Amino acid sequence: MILNIAEICPATHTLGPGQRFVIWVQGCCFNCPGCISPNWIPQKQATLVDPLKLANYILSIPGTEGLTVSGGEPMLQAPALNQLFTYLRQRSNFSIICFSGFTLEQLHAKCDPAINQVLSLIDVLIDGQYMSELNDNKGTRGSSNQIVHFLSGRHASEANLFTERKRDVEIHMRDDSALMVGVPPINFPEHFKKAVNFTTPKVSSTN
Ligand code: SF4
Repeated sequence: MILNIAEICPATHTLGPGQRFVIWVQGCCFNCPGCISPNWIPQKQATLVDPLKLANYILSIPGTEGLTVSGGEPMLQAPALNQLFTYLRQRSNFSIICFSGFTLEQLHAKCDPAINQVLSLIDVLIDGQYMSELNDNKGTRGSSNQIVHFLSGRHASEANLFTERKRDVEIHMRDDSALMVGVPPINFPEHFKKAVNFTTPKVSSTN
């Protein structure tokens, strides 16, 4: 069993309650206009990982309170996610949040044992495709058509966080790149570019 992942973030506070590990899977069967991660739509090989090794890595990160899985389309890799979630459930009290372009109704209609098992292990499912015209600039979902399902009830008292909270993002610097983590506010790219241009010191040459 192998998980094909596009990216990970070991610790963030932008995609659900508490400190969370985030996995973005590679490959999506949808093509939503305005998708913020178009590079992760192609169903191609990215980084292949053993779910159990990844679970052990997640468990080794101090302070982790939960896991959020996005993409890409997580449900295309339900068997590997099932293995990952089952292992984590046996060894931790992490909460698990998962995004999917499929609605919960569509997922149930598939009658797929692996998907059903994944759903039974998730605390919160944020479902439905992103629709830019319904982006209300609020919460941990991209657009208001997406429904936040509190499948376990664990985070039900924190509903505002998912649907009403003012959005923020974290920028994680890498050796050769930067990773944006979170659901960005509308016009974030333009505002970010302006902020960077404003704060970047001018370098002059004397030669
Ligand atoms: S379902 Fe998500 S990852 Fe897939 S195209 Fe839509 S917004 Fe992008």
